[in-house]
This record gives sequence, C-alpha cells and structure tokens, in this order.
Amino acid sequence: MQNTADVIIIGGGVHGASLAFHLSQRDVKVIVMEKNFIASGATGRSSGLLRMHYDFELESKLAWESFQYFRNWAEIVGGDCGFMRTGFFQFAKPETTQQLRANVAMHQSIGIPSELVTPEDVTRLAPHFNVEGMEIAAYEPESGHADPNATTASFFEIARQKGTRLIQDCHVTAIHTQGGKITGVDTSQGKFTAPIVVNVAGAWAAEIAQLLGLEIPVDTWQHDVMFVNRPAEMGDSHPAAIDFQNSMYFRSETGGLTLVGLDDDSMMGGSPDNPTDHAQKGFVEKAIERICSRIPIMEKASLHSAYCGIDGITPDQRGIIGKAGPDGFYLQCGFSGTGFKISPAVGACMSELIVDGQAQLVDITPFRFERFAEDELISGEHSYGNIWH
Ligand SMILES: Cc1cc2nc3c(=O)[nH]c(=O)nc-3n(C[C@H](O)[C@H](O)[C@H](O)COP(=O)(O)OP(=O)(O)OC[C@H]3O[C@@H](n4cnc5c(N)ncnc54)[C@H](O)[C@@H]3O)c2cc1C
Repeated sequence: MQNTADVIIIGGGVHGASLAFHLSQRDVKVIVMEKNFIASGATGRSSGLLRMHYDFELESKLAWESFQYFRNWAEIVGGDCGFMRTGFFQFAKPETTQQLRANVAMHQSIGIPSELVTPEDVTRLAPHFNVEGMEIAAYEPESGHADPNATTASFFEIARQKGTRLIQDCHVTAIHTQGGKITGVDTSQGKFTAPIVVNVAGAWAAEIAQLLGLEIPVDTWQHDVMFVNRPAEMGDSHPAAIDFQNSMYFRSETGGLTLVGLDDDSMMGGSPDNPTDHAQKGFVEKAIERICSRIPIMEKASLHSAYCGIDGITPDQRGIIGKAGPDGFYLQCGFSGTGFKISPAVGACMSELIVDGQAQLVDITPFRFERFAEDELISGEHSYGNIWH
C-alpha cells in the first residue's frame, strides 16, 4: 500500500474525521493515523451537547454553521449522527443577565433561533425545573445533542469511500522536516510521506507539537460526567441546559437517563493517558445535589454510572486553528471541552485553509496560534468569563 499522501492527519477523533471528510470532498489524498481506535479520546467521552449560545460571535457562527450539518446529516454527510432536538436553556447568574440579553441579541443577528424567556416560560417548557430566583433565561428551541461516536464514524465512512486511508493502532512517533518544510512522519506502522501534517491529537496535541520542538499552550482538562435514571414522571426527554447558577450542565439521554456535568473541579494538567473509567471522588455527590436543586423531582432518581474524559485546553479555553511552526504544519486542537459541536465547521474551514489558503465559511483568524505570543487571547464581546474552573 502507498505510504504517500497530500495530507497526514494525526488523530482519529471527531476533528480528524471532519477534516478527513472535508479534504476528501476536495479530492485531496489523506492518510489518518490513530494510535488507538476512532473516537477513543475525548470524542468517545463527549456529552455531545449542541447549542449555539456562546459569548464570542465567531464561536457562535462556527456552532451555527455546524448545526446545519447535524440537523441535515443524511443529506450533507450521509449516515446518521444521532441528532436529538430537545431545546436548550442557558441559565445565567443574576449578575450576568446583561450579558445574557446582549448575547441573545448577537445570536439573533446571526440568524440563530434564540430568545429570552421568563421563568413562567421555562415552567411551561420544562415543568419540573425549579425557577426560583430566576429573572430571565435564554432558550434555543432547535438545539439538543448528537452522538459523538456515530458522528465520527459516519464522517470517516464517507471519507474512506472518497479515498481517505484510516490507519488505526498507528502511533506517530516522529515528524520530519527538510529545509523548514514538512516531509512526513514515522509511526509504529512505518514511515509515511506528505508535505502537510495536521495535529488533531486532542489532549496529546502538545506532545505531537513537541516532536517538532514546538511549544503550544495546550494543557489537559479532565472532566467527570454522571448519568442518572430519571423519574418516570419526567417522560421520554427534557430540555438540555447550561446552568451557570449551579455551575452545571445537563441533558436527557435515551433509556430514561439524564447526563450531568459540572463546570468546576475540572482537573487540569494530568496525563492525557490517565484512566477514564471512573469519576473523581466526591463528584457524584456534588452533581446529585446540584441537579436536585434545579430539578427537585430528581430526588427520586437513581445513579446509573459515572466516568470522565480528557480534552486539550488552552489559556483562553478556545481551540487553536491554523498554521504553526514549519511550512506544512497545522494545528486543529485545544478545543477545551466544547469542540464537538463546532467540529463540522472547523473541518470545513481547515480544509479551505489547506486547499485555498484561506477559510471562507467562518473567519478563523482569531483562533490562530500566534494569538498567545501576541497577547490577543480570545474574550467574548459580552463575556461570562471562563466556563471551566
Ligand atoms: C467528558 C467530556 C464531555 C464533553 N462534552 C462536550 C459537549 O457536550 N459538547 C461539545 O461540543 N464538546 C464536548 N466536549 C469536548 C469535545 O468532546 C472535544 O473537544 C472533541 O471531542 C475533541 O475532538 P478531537 O478530535 O480534537 O480530539 P480526540 O477525540 O481526543 O482525538 C484525538 C485522537 O488523537 C489520537 N492520538 C494522540 N496521539 C497520537 C499519536 N501520537 N499518534 C496517533 N494518534 C494519536 C488519540 O488516540 C485520539 O483518538 C467534551 C469533552 C469531554 C472530555
């Protein structure tokens, strides 16, 4: 088999899959190397929440462009991404309601279906939610969640039909350059050559950049998730929410389950290879207390399971998208616990950058690697501050 490609992608998560899909649509010859199996990193642990509510306009645009894929998956990509529309609430802390109002106006100006709702509206849409102390909330009627494993698998399936070669159990161990230009990689399955290499290695992205002696500010972020069997009275599903008041997010899952994650107690800086089959001590108790505070009937819920996942995180908790280091080296990493929902549009933008020299779908320049050295960290126009702490 030919070990030469136009582009080598390191990492078989949802971002590597999206990039492979988009490049293959442009007839670019792609080889994807995945050291384990597809979606074995952050992607396979992702909560899969899809919302457009961000405090930074270009991130909302990436989410909105991506949302067109999720809700029209069969036509745009093919196969099934497991999209479920449940509606989504953004609950703000009382001191950030001004930001909430301004951000909803910004989302509406992009064309995102988003509105301000009163506590009475919330009760009508989600009768079991506690609205005590709530002044106002944002509601996205179209949002919901998708299945990150199915999303990744179907991106890869179509990319492979278009000629992409996906090699699993293939660990990249070195990246080569000549005269300041990328020439290829060494792997546990031999040498491969290509003039372009894209680092899409999630929590391992800093390790990959180090193979070129390049320092990138991508740390690790370990995040716990809990599933509970919700009480039957809550029905087949309920709206999802990011609940800043309770430092929590939650969504419904099939099988009568509800998924809960917390914004605080994220573990930063651990090994990307840490085990992910269990949550940190104390997490479940805290998550149960908070979900019962927002949805009191959850007192009747029972614990189903808990685990964690590990993503790459940057100082401004936004991804790095663009060129870096030697000619032919690109970064698509550092998605900081929010990268699933933007993966279709980011893959499209990266393919445009690689093939045409510039992204067209959304302006990705603020996400450039140089922003850290230039002290141009991303901050929302009406910022809520960092999500994870
Ligand atoms: C618990 C959890 C919940 C989340 N919830 C949400 C959510 O609700 N909504 C949302 O939008 N985002 C969410 N995220 C974030 C989102 O899942 C990630 O940003 C996204 O999945 C990252 O995808 P990726 O392809 O960049 O990385 P990964 O999926 O981590 O893929 C990177 C791949 O690179 C491979 N690799 C690493 N080193 C090498 C090497 N040397 N050679 C070959 N391959 C290598 C790894 O094996 C891995 O499979 C969550 C993340 C976690 C952890």
